[in-house]
Amino acid sequence: MSQANESYLLDVQGVSKHFSGLQALSDVNLQVPEGSVHAIIGPNGAGKSTLLNVLIGLIEADQGTVRFDGRELRGIKPHDIIQRGIARVFQTPQIFPALSLLENVSIAALAKRDGQFSVRVRESLGRGHAITDEAAETLADVGLGEHLDEPAQSLSRGDKRRLELAVCLAAHPKLLLLDEPTAGMSRHDTNRTVELLGRIAERGMTKIVIEHDMHVVFSLAEQITVLAQGRVIASGRPEDVRGDPRVVEAYLGGGREEQ
Ligand code: ADP
Ligand code: MG
Repeated sequence: MSQANESYLLDVQGVSKHFSGLQALSDVNLQVPEGSVHAIIGPNGAGKSTLLNVLIGLIEADQGTVRFDGRELRGIKPHDIIQRGIARVFQTPQIFPALSLLENVSIAALAKRDGQFSVRVRESLGRGHAITDEAAETLADVGLGEHLDEPAQSLSRGDKRRLELAVCLAAHPKLLLLDEPTAGMSRHDTNRTVELLGRIAERGMTKIVIEHDMHVVFSLAEQITVLAQGRVIASGRPEDVRGDPRVVEAYLGGGREEQ
């Protein structure tokens, strides 16, 4: 049992959440040091997305505390949590389909800078503006540098997820939350995404990734937390968690495995 510790970027202690009779999270602890990559795994319905929703302020926990960057997050609105430096990549991409890739990423950078949201980026920014230049660089980083002026809706599913990642990176989060970033991707796109996430890790951005693809988990994560039916059943380094009998049981004996 770990104690609250200022040295963690994220420190979740005793978080519980129920939905009308269903205990989605029970006494969940999670500590994430700055600069590390932490995976959350577990069968479908284990509470993984609910936990991220608590972190981002979309769901209020019934009990427990969440400290981020030394401050309690309880009661803080999602928008302010983003301003404090947490960004989340959703299970389904959240982008503006009719706007270009460059506009999508520039909007995110502007929103972070000004705390305001405007889709009139064409009027507020031109090419050559620092924000547009950085957006173009970020898009190049995620492998979309050739498509800056194309509308987001023209992208393949895998590329849309990369665009969404670029949108999140534009806000320079301290903590990036990824909910199944490779869901629905081909093996080729999955490998490209793993490579990309590895590169972001090298820059020192702290990440929490929910993932069902064990290849992805073991390539990226330094620590793994295993949830089953809302409880943490194991937590530790990948090599320790991999063979844990409770983890094997949760996957094989318990809930349905995803995909
Ligand atoms: P996971 O992401 O691990 O698959 P979720 O966190 O999405 O699991 O869901 C955990 C449990 O909570 C599931 O049984 C799910 O049906 C339930 N649940 C999630 N969100 C809600 C909600 N807003 N209202 C009611 N039940 C919910
Ligand atoms: Mg989920």
